[in-house]
Amino acid sequence: MLIDTHAHVNMPEFFDLADVLARAKEKNVKYIIDVGFDPESIERSLQLSAKAEEIYSVIGIHPHDAKLFNADLLAYLRKTLGKSKKIVGIGETGLDYFKSYSPKDKQIEAYQAQIKLAKEFKLPLAIHSRASEDDAIKILRQEASDELSGVFHCYAGDVEQAQKVIDLGFYISVTGIVTFPKAKNIVEVVKSIPLDRIMLETDCPYLAPIPYRGKRNEPANISIIADKISEILGISTEEVALKTSENARRLFKLP
Ligand SMILES: [Zn+2]
Ligand SMILES: [Zn+2]
Repeated sequence: MLIDTHAHVNMPEFFDLADVLARAKEKNVKYIIDVGFDPESIERSLQLSAKAEEIYSVIGIHPHDAKLFNADLLAYLRKTLGKSKKIVGIGETGLDYFKSYSPKDKQIEAYQAQIKLAKEFKLPLAIHSRASEDDAIKILRQEASDELSGVFHCYAGDVEQAQKVIDLGFYISVTGIVTFPKAKNIVEVVKSIPLDRIMLETDCPYLAPIPYRGKRNEPANISIIADKISEILGISTEEVALKTSENARRLFKLP
């Protein structure tokens, strides 16, 4: 069994979703966690997870959209979180200092508010962090509690920061970037942390692994990422699939 722990199948790129889901099933992808990142995509995600048994939703406001974050949006999230049992996490939230589409102080404000929301609703966090790991970890540490957990999705930090993420009880999630020739950093991270802290994701439609690089990505390609991690760690793909699925089920409380 494989689990795609971070996908955006709610996006218009997936006009042929029935075929996409069929291909995922063929590759043994049992669950897909679809991330709604603004009110529009959140509503689409909830429609999908209500209809398709294998789809679950994570909802939140992306750091790119943090400039829009305000009390109304927070109230909307709070109201929506109570609506569906298939919402298994909050995110993606975090900090993106690479693209910086929203001012830094607004990103931090939205991030802190969503961490508090995760604590209030006892849900894990899906964290997006780019060129911002030190701040993302520092803020998390200020809010840390025994119950607070989550995952750094599409992890892009270094080995030392990965250790801090794990020390906080969080997970590291790996995308198709791990198959790229220049991905030495994430390969080192994968080698340095225990397998019981690693999860797999496509982040589709983005970040298709080799040999599909540049094309639309989809959940079936999780199997390629699992193969690559088995190669890096020198263990079977079955073991990678088993352990990373256990991790995802533990964090997101999936059946
Ligand atoms: Zn992201
Ligand atoms: Zn994403």
